[in-house]
Amino acid sequence: MGNMIDIRGLCKAYGDIQAVHDLTFSVREGELFAFLGENGAGKSTTINIICTALSKDSGTVSVCGADIDREPERVRKAIGVVYQGSRLDGPLSVWDNLESRAALYGITGAEFRARVSELSERLELRDLLRRPLRKLSGGQRRRIDIARALLHRPRLLILDEPTTGLDPQTRKLLWQVVEDLRREEGLTVFLTTHYMEEAAEADSVIILDHGRIAAEGSPLELKNAWTGDHITLYNTTAEEVAGLGLPAEKLRDAFRITVPDTAAATKLILSHPEVFRDYEITKGCMDDVFLNVTGRKLEGGEEK
Ligand code: ATP
Repeated sequence: MGNMIDIRGLCKAYGDIQAVHDLTFSVREGELFAFLGENGAGKSTTINIICTALSKDSGTVSVCGADIDREPERVRKAIGVVYQGSRLDGPLSVWDNLESRAALYGITGAEFRARVSELSERLELRDLLRRPLRKLSGGQRRRIDIARALLHRPRLLILDEPTTGLDPQTRKLLWQVVEDLRREEGLTVFLTTHYMEEAAEADSVIILDHGRIAAEGSPLELKNAWTGDHITLYNTTAEEVAGLGLPAEKLRDAFRITVPDTAAATKLILSHPEVFRDYEITKGCMDDVFLNVTGRKLEGGEEK
């Protein structure tokens, strides 16, 4: 499979602020891609450029094989976007909102009704369709946002912090819908999120820092590169742990030692079997990756 997004040397500044600097990356067709970074890292700027809503200073961007400068219409047709803040019209009913949106893509009449019916099924919208948007809860609105983004059957779905503030049921429904569409239709998903457990499910991840790529890879590659392995020790004493000669963190019913990798954990355990009577080994999580990637920059004394 080819690339759904190809970005080469992308730059964008707002006056003196270099929001995105020489960004180069690709998103493969069909993958779940997580685009991470602290507030202000340049995520929205990149997304707005990909969607042709914002002009770039330099570089090239193509989506689904179409260049954003040469074929912006084709790019827009390939993309569905769920923005951070809902962009839906308050007084109109859900149905009217979806209908006016669909008309922009030439989807009308029976075709529109069939599409709404399909999306209602997936997103459990049936009871909401005749209600005015302003009367809906945050979670209900979010489901409509997603339906709206999917109306024209995009090949690429961009989700900009889609689950922020959502209740667990709506969050689960959203991920189920995304998973189904990926499996059934090969949908590519471009996600930004501050929830690292969501990023951990991605096929590949980029962490942006001040408009530049600070780390990239699969969650496993990132964990191996940016975190150690944790050994949690149970049924032991502070003296025994101190005897290992490594820094240990005291937990409620246990101690935790962090070692560079699994090989180091194995070596340590084999050389002190009397201390490691009851233990577990876990890899660092994506939270650790994110904090280490963005935090190391701070320690390195870069401009923050
Ligand atoms: P967030 O998660 O908060 O949305 P982000 O990673 O999407 O952050 P951007 O919104 O792309 O980051 O912002 C990147 C940088 O560009 C920030 O320093 C921001 O203050 C600046 N910026 C964004 N939009 C504008 C604008 N219209 N005018 C001036 N500066 C801007």
